[in-house]
Amino acid sequence: MVKKDALERWTVEQSAEVYGIRNWGAGYFDVSREGHVVITPFLDNKKVRVSIPKIIKGLRERGLDMPVLLRVENILDSQISLLHHSFRAAMDKVGYKNVFRGVYPIKVNQQEQVIEEITRHGGKYHHGLEAGSKAELIAALAMLRDPEACLICNGYKDEEFIDLGLFARKMGYNIFFVLEMPSELELILERAKALGIEPLLGARMKLAAKAGGHWTESGGDRSIFGLDTAQLVQVVDKLKSENMLSCLRLLHYHLGSQIPNIRDIRTAVLEACRVYCGLVDEGAPMGYLDLGGGLAVDYDGSHTNYVNSRNYTLDEYCADVVEAVMESLDEKGVEHPVIITESGRALVAYYSVLLFNILDTSRFEAAPLPKKLPEDTPTLIENLYIAAKSMSVRNVQESLNDAVYYRDEIRGLFRHGHVTLRQRALAENVFWHMVNQAAVLLRQLKQVPPELEDLEEAIADIYYANMSVFQSVPDSWAIGQVFPIMPVHRLDEMPSRRAILADITCDCDGKIDRFIDPHGVAKVLPVHDLKDNEEYFLGAFLVGAYQETLGDLHNLLGDTNVVSLRIREDGSYDFVREVEGDTVADVLAYVEYNPKKLHTKFRETAEKAVREGRITARERREIMRAFEDGMRGYTYFER
Ligand SMILES: *Cc1c(COP(=O)(O)O)cnc(C)c1O
Repeated sequence: MVKKDALERWTVEQSAEVYGIRNWGAGYFDVSREGHVVITPFLDNKKVRVSIPKIIKGLRERGLDMPVLLRVENILDSQISLLHHSFRAAMDKVGYKNVFRGVYPIKVNQQEQVIEEITRHGGKYHHGLEAGSKAELIAALAMLRDPEACLICNGYKDEEFIDLGLFARKMGYNIFFVLEMPSELELILERAKALGIEPLLGARMKLAAKAGGHWTESGGDRSIFGLDTAQLVQVVDKLKSENMLSCLRLLHYHLGSQIPNIRDIRTAVLEACRVYCGLVDEGAPMGYLDLGGGLAVDYDGSHTNYVNSRNYTLDEYCADVVEAVMESLDEKGVEHPVIITESGRALVAYYSVLLFNILDTSRFEAAPLPKKLPEDTPTLIENLYIAAKSMSVRNVQESLNDAVYYRDEIRGLFRHGHVTLRQRALAENVFWHMVNQAAVLLRQLKQVPPELEDLEEAIADIYYANMSVFQSVPDSWAIGQVFPIMPVHRLDEMPSRRAILADITCDCDGKIDRFIDPHGVAKVLPVHDLKDNEEYFLGAFLVGAYQETLGDLHNLLGDTNVVSLRIREDGSYDFVREVEGDTVADVLAYVEYNPKKLHTKFRETAEKAVREGRITARERREIMRAFEDGMRGYTYFER
């Protein structure tokens, strides 16, 4: 925690430490000497630093209001390259005799510009796509141009899906149907015969291994997807009886997303390799082993097996996977397959940052202790006052226990009419003064007693953020995921306040009160006091995976403005794409209103008011103009 020493000059280095930016930033974000968060998109050239506050200024000048989702294309490119280079290096190191092929699972972020950038930059490495539904397949077919890249079809497939996939196979796509359920095979074989096209088939296996983490329902014996071993054997038998075993080319599993522990990853690979060898023994040609997703993101920068982290690096992940595959297959004399992974989160999380401004704050202010108490003060309040005066770093816990006791007793006396309103107010003030003082004292300690950890939260300010948690960081609300959040400027000043963030949905769940902390999860975020006539901007980082389409229209706050940035080697940059967020009319139309009809209805109401003499015709024009401007406007707070 921040040491409160006004004499000591606050440095940007201290800010970097408080917010942990160098731990979770993966080399893409840092703090500049001016106190700005900067993007450092080129891991091999840290001299290129782009200031986020300067980007915000540029956006504002162009008329783009906060909140803005900023996508840094270079970071996405870099993550794709790192994945391929890491696998290549791991394979070269041990002499693996085949290649790595990545596929991007569209569901992780389906936005067109994401898929376009992945297929464009990923083209160098034959990076493919994974589709889990008809809509995703259709997008994938149109976006993927590289015949060497894989297109993996998971998910439930109907006749339309299958026919489309078969035709794509005929056109030359490297497209695999992965069997999720035994019943799918029948229909695929039927359509394949009808169209005279041989499909590439894969089987999704259920793993016995189950990993720790938030999203691991996909793994384990009880997972809802995939074939158990008995079903796998049935599939093999069916293919043999149809003389189609030559189509079985791929084995797939998906352990779940965000697997924090490398041991779970390794266990799963070993299990899958056994099954793979078994299928080869059965006479299937195979050739592809698809390990699904799971490569985690170190959101809190702790590098541990905690759910928001991972206890391995990308290089370690690749080395472990390659070694495990090679060892198990060499043992059985089976040829090395193409290794496929379906990493989504790890590719896209880093490249989006949600930028938002603070609209207002509600500060916790403890009134100072009075110099002396009035004559007629009841004894209990006097005792409370004495406890407040004598509190020190050595007796914080004891003093607070006393304070709670006295406060409750005083409230009891108030209920019975023995304490006046003014006396009770005095007692409450002394009480909150003590709580505040206790928090200040505790910040000097290295180790805060567990009973007192909630103290900071009790006296936190509320900072009102111009955004919707439900729209922009839904996992923060739904599964308690923690994202790195920090001010993007003023980092050369000490953050003297502690706050939780409330969004503008006015839902009591629309708040963020869990923040990253090297020792787990913090309940408050260190922030700066707001200045008059100066806006205060924060960023929520690493929000590129899953957050965009899972987000919803709670309180009809719509999509935010989105801007993509492409940074050049000399540090200059272009806003390569701007997508304006939803207007009020857009979100109303999503929930089946007809904006034209709403306009007509409201005009009729206004006209009635004119008729009845409540407003003038001229006022009607003003009101209608405000209504129309509102319809066309951004759903967030506009300046
Ligand atoms: C969601 C999903 C993925 C992506 O997992 P990440 O952990 O985001 O890499 C990969 N494969 C399948 C089948 C999935 O359902």
